[in-house]
Amino acid sequence: MFFLSIGMFYPSYPDKERWIEEGFRCSGCNVVLITLDALRSDHLGSYGYGKDTSPNIDGLAAKGVLFKNSYSNAPVTSLSLPSLMTSHLPRQSFHDFRYYENSDSWLPMYYINSSYETLSEVFQRSGYKTAVFFSNPFVRITNSVRGFNKIYENIHVTDTRSDADLIEMAQKSMSGSKRHFVWIHLMSPHAPYSPPYPFNQTFYGHNGYSESTNHTVEEMNANNGLMQQEIDFAVSQYDGEISYADNEIGKLLDYISMQGYLTDTLIIISSDHGESFGEHDLFMDHGELYDTNLKVPLIIYNPHANKYEPVVMQKVSLIDIYPTILEIVNLDQSMRLEGRSMVPVILGKDRVAKPVVSIAELPYTLYRLDPDVYPRYFSFAIHHSDFAYLNVGKVEELYNLTSDISQKDNLFDKKEEDIIFFRKLSKSIMI
Ligand SMILES: [Zn+2]
Repeated sequence: MFFLSIGMFYPSYPDKERWIEEGFRCSGCNVVLITLDALRSDHLGSYGYGKDTSPNIDGLAAKGVLFKNSYSNAPVTSLSLPSLMTSHLPRQSFHDFRYYENSDSWLPMYYINSSYETLSEVFQRSGYKTAVFFSNPFVRITNSVRGFNKIYENIHVTDTRSDADLIEMAQKSMSGSKRHFVWIHLMSPHAPYSPPYPFNQTFYGHNGYSESTNHTVEEMNANNGLMQQEIDFAVSQYDGEISYADNEIGKLLDYISMQGYLTDTLIIISSDHGESFGEHDLFMDHGELYDTNLKVPLIIYNPHANKYEPVVMQKVSLIDIYPTILEIVNLDQSMRLEGRSMVPVILGKDRVAKPVVSIAELPYTLYRLDPDVYPRYFSFAIHHSDFAYLNVGKVEELYNLTSDISQKDNLFDKKEEDIIFFRKLSKSIMI
């Protein structure tokens, strides 16, 4: 019964023959950007996950372009979203100190300063109606709300159900709107994992583990003798949150379809960073530079497309989204950005791969644990060719992405030439 109700939300996709444009253009189209907080790509069906967490997202991916190797430029929201909105890596240039009201001390926060033109500002000056919907306070704290005519926040970080409200409000804002750029940042599946019924039971129940013994995220982070069963339960609730968010996205897609917007709406789905479930001793959290925290989904649905590769393998990152959208909808692309348009690889053209850079700046979890004991220092990862190179406070790690996807075998001592290559690359990238 439950799955039948989900099925009702599958949108009816338009007949492409009537809407095709040359290549991958969608000139003057509406744009809907949906980001899910802490969604790692390998927990979606379209990225090969064994559980049916995301039928609506998968349905969109089947009609669009799926980027297999898409990375976040930072493993935390406060650095990642400014990168997405500015197409610049999170460096010192938009660094600022802001007081985070839920904390009792000053914390370094990234805050987009006036030297950057945000993606939403480009839409705004191009005559679009712009609107943002979110429940993660970092969207506002980082000034990622700049350039939006309508700003709607529903700050209930611990209540995933705020996502339904965000979707509903986004729908209302689209109603009767001519040309719109809408960004919805859903809080799911970010911790604490507490999907509403029936999603809390969708992926759990096979082992008799009781929900009443569900540990808090803090307990899980402390890893006080966690049983595998407890981790499995947490993952089932994380997956339940994905399923809940996917169901809400299905409602949105259905609404867009019913309003007749689907023929003129470019839809992008991605995430700000991933999540770890014990990999590299990080439990139900993110902030480190391993692929569990950096590999995020990226799906682009373009109803006007008549030529595209359904699956793109070249490595891309969130800073590439800004120039890609502008090229597809045919707006001003004259600004200097660090990202580059993905349209050439979408069209199947060969081009030189560009290293993907992700910056954590500080070993987030340790710093948060005790800022006095663990000082801040620059840390980053570079994904290039077959390798992931990590430089965490000058401790270097190197992993082969093809033969060691779980990044267990650090090749630092075995690949001297590659380490030298990445050190040189680091210097040119990090200036
Ligand atoms: Zn986040």
